[in-house]
Amino acid sequence: MSVLRPIDLHTHSSVSDGTESPAELVRAAIDAGLGTIALTDHDSTAGWQDAFDAASGTGLTVIPGMELSTNYGPASVHMLAYLFDPMDATIVAETARIRDGRMHRAERIVERIAKDYGITWADVLAQSVDGGTIGRPHIADALVANGDVSDRSAAFKTILHWRSGYYEKYYAPSPLAGVRMIVGAGGVPVLAHPATHGRYRVIEDAAIKELKDAGLFGLEIHHRDNTDDGKQRLYQLARKFGLEVTGSSDYHGVGKPNRLGENTTEPAVLARLIAAGTGSAPFVG
Ligand code: AMP
Ligand code: FE
Ligand code: FE
Ligand code: ZN
Repeated sequence: MSVLRPIDLHTHSSVSDGTESPAELVRAAIDAGLGTIALTDHDSTAGWQDAFDAASGTGLTVIPGMELSTNYGPASVHMLAYLFDPMDATIVAETARIRDGRMHRAERIVERIAKDYGITWADVLAQSVDGGTIGRPHIADALVANGDVSDRSAAFKTILHWRSGYYEKYYAPSPLAGVRMIVGAGGVPVLAHPATHGRYRVIEDAAIKELKDAGLFGLEIHHRDNTDDGKQRLYQLARKFGLEVTGSSDYHGVGKPNRLGENTTEPAVLARLIAAGTGSAPFVG
């Protein structure tokens, strides 16, 4: 029966920038009536075991995953990765490098913000869990706690916007290197929310073909941040290159308006994704 309950393949816990622990996220997914979730924290697998433990005996299936940061020229491109080996040496080293780069970049952003607002680096660390993946959402939470903005969304529109003057990027591999790394670890790569910029094509068709040839499994088309125009282009690309279509919420707890199960993935697509992943196994709770 569980296969008939909704499948949500993109969620975040407090291991990165979600607001609920992996166990709380699992509970929320069960309460929302989901049958399967993927835990896809940014650049980290640290929440997998806690999610498995919490799902045990509940009937919820947890697909181990991650949202890998990549850089494509000036653009930050997110790559979902499923069912890879979390001990793979390349993945372990590369994600550690990304998390370290994120940490120092956030520190420098906060140094600039601190000249105009009353937050400190310690305030930001207080908003994140030990060893977690730091991002702008944790800076947003410090700004909220300090009364500078009302919520994360307001912070992203103003102080944390990339044009604010406080922003800087962080180290990440190219999308092609990311796909190769995930596939090399037995995993299944899916391009996350690839059409968030309207008609502007962040990744051109030829580059998507190159990713497909390297093992890209699918495109996350059903996602609230993809524009309608962008979705049409993605459907055409999926047909042209034989890419799968996924959908998911990108739930961040109370950190974003996205609700669990607001977009879902078809059971047949999940079955093919599971068949393709050889580096780790779904946890059937
Ligand atoms: P960073 O990883 O530091 O570049 O920050 C980007 C992250 O912030 C993304 O993973 C989103 O989950 C989150 N984010 C982006 N925009 C918003 C928003 N308007 N409200 C809440 N979170 C956001
Ligand atoms: Fe996020
Ligand atoms: Fe993302
Ligand atoms: Zn995400």
